[in-house]
Amino acid sequence: MIIILHGAATDQNVDEVVGKLRENGYEANVSRGVERTILGAVGALEEPQKELLAERLTTLPFVERVVPILKPYKLVSREGHPEPSTIPVGDTTVGGRRLCVVAGPCAVESREQILATAADVKAAGATMLRGGAFKPRTSPYDFQGMKEAGLDLLREARQQTGLPIVTEVVDVRDLERVLEVADILQLGTRNMQNFALLSAVGECRTPVILKRGMSATIEEWLKAAEYLMARGNHFVILCERGIRTFETYTRNTLDLSAVPAVKELTHLPVFVDPSHGAGKRSLVGPLSLAAIAAGADGLLIEVHPQPEQAVSDAQQQLTPSEFAVLMSSLRPIVEAVGREV
Ligand code: PEP
Ligand code: MN
Repeated sequence: MIIILHGAATDQNVDEVVGKLRENGYEANVSRGVERTILGAVGALEEPQKELLAERLTTLPFVERVVPILKPYKLVSREGHPEPSTIPVGDTTVGGRRLCVVAGPCAVESREQILATAADVKAAGATMLRGGAFKPRTSPYDFQGMKEAGLDLLREARQQTGLPIVTEVVDVRDLERVLEVADILQLGTRNMQNFALLSAVGECRTPVILKRGMSATIEEWLKAAEYLMARGNHFVILCERGIRTFETYTRNTLDLSAVPAVKELTHLPVFVDPSHGAGKRSLVGPLSLAAIAAGADGLLIEVHPQPEQAVSDAQQQLTPSEFAVLMSSLRPIVEAVGREV
């Protein structure tokens, strides 16, 4: 349920409501707006106790209204948190006015490759560097990533450029090591419903990009995000990366309708990954523009010094100069939607 307090409610009033919720086994998520304070209560009281508690709270003079939450994802839902969430990462803020562009190779392949890419994407205006050290590959015979050595190279790339690092964790057993380097953890499409991994990442306070499962509905995706938030990690960024459809011309079908849809349903920032969405270099630019127009807070773009020699996702990675052209082409759209890059 959501408890909306009158504008004049004091900190003491908020504490009183939080206390009453805790007595009844609820956790409270407090959101202080300019006009009023809203508390999201998360717990498992059964009817009719739930109704009884709601009635008791309604009688408090500083409570304006108590609203039951109907959505199955309470913490993720906009019902309990009407303001969009912003997530600070390094010097930047995800979900703020500034568009966030995460760029870099699919996989960290060598020192030269990652350091050169990092310098190039930074020069072109990227906000963060991406690169997989642990790679979730469909075939067990494909390159699985440089693992720890890849993490060390990402750390070096951050030292050289100052760019925050986005990198994927594929296994709970690697989490501690990945956390030493990642400014944002990535949970990939194949792990969207790996509930053990979601729960472990939920215990961390490092922001996380949760990619949409390639066959996941929006509701399943939001419930996966709820796993993270229910464990206390409130720094969740959703990322649409294309879903499976009957179409085979593109690698996936980038579901841009998901961007305004999840923005209606949740307060979380939303990114779009047109590289995996399309799987084709030539489509990355147009889809990036469309994603921004649809309201995306950020983009994930694969960039490689020599895409044709990439050990993974060779078809979709941009060259650094293609990326620089893309960055300048974004500007008019970014400005048209009232943002900056
Ligand atoms: C990636 O970002 O390199 C990746 C593996 O993405 P996805 O999980 O969307 O396939
Ligand atoms: Mn990739």
